[in-house]
Amino acid sequence: MSDPRTEELAQRLATVRGELDAAVARAGRAPGDVELLVVTKFFPAADVARLIELGEREFGESREPEASRKIAELGELVDSRGAVFDMIGSVQTKKAKTVARWARSVHSVDRDKLVDQLATAAQAALHEQLRTEPLGVFCQVSLDGDPTRGGVIEAELPELAQRVVAAPSLRLEGLMVIAPTHGEVREWMATTARIREGFLREYPDATALSAGMSGDMTIAVEYGSTCVRVGTAIMGSRPILSQ
Ligand SMILES: *Cc1c(COP(=O)(O)O)cnc(C)c1O
Repeated sequence: MSDPRTEELAQRLATVRGELDAAVARAGRAPGDVELLVVTKFFPAADVARLIELGEREFGESREPEASRKIAELGELVDSRGAVFDMIGSVQTKKAKTVARWARSVHSVDRDKLVDQLATAAQAALHEQLRTEPLGVFCQVSLDGDPTRGGVIEAELPELAQRVVAAPSLRLEGLMVIAPTHGEVREWMATTARIREGFLREYPDATALSAGMSGDMTIAVEYGSTCVRVGTAIMGSRPILSQ
């Protein structure tokens, strides 16, 4: 622990991991069943480097080109340590090309046009050997139909998922949700679990569920989340603009 910021990150990380492990155990699920994606948006590459030193390997970014720049700045460290980055924020169609170069998966896929652009972009990235695996896709479901938060409504999910499955450069991972700020988290997660049950009957291999953030990760785990996206609880609430 060479500097105060590393110590701070280590402490918060330990707390979050402790809470997550406890929630996984309470839910009677296997350790390692739930991936912790550390959301590093707004925070500098130096913080990602600290987290890599602390043993973290899975990161979430939500803005492009911020993510591309950060990953370029990290350089060697990313490949040598096997760090991976997922795109969790909404993707403008014109950004699909660059996102497909660095993202392991995109969690926020919610429209046909984006699927098509990502498929083309991932195909090109595979061809140029900028990536070796298909691009993972999570279909984002809107739980309350509010279009400003992204996601498709449940009725539109089958068509979207079918489009992903039809693209050889993409791999359908599963579903993603962001619990609305109104109402009860527990009810939103129960709705998510119900939608997922139907979805898994159609796509039994698409078992991932990206659900849960700093405020609701333990409830999400209770309802079947396989990937929690945690920013604030680890990074702190104030963006650090320079280190
Ligand atoms: C920022 C962000 C998170 C992390 O949220 P916290 O409340 O800071 O943990 C998770 N998911 C998405 C889509 C985000 O944009």
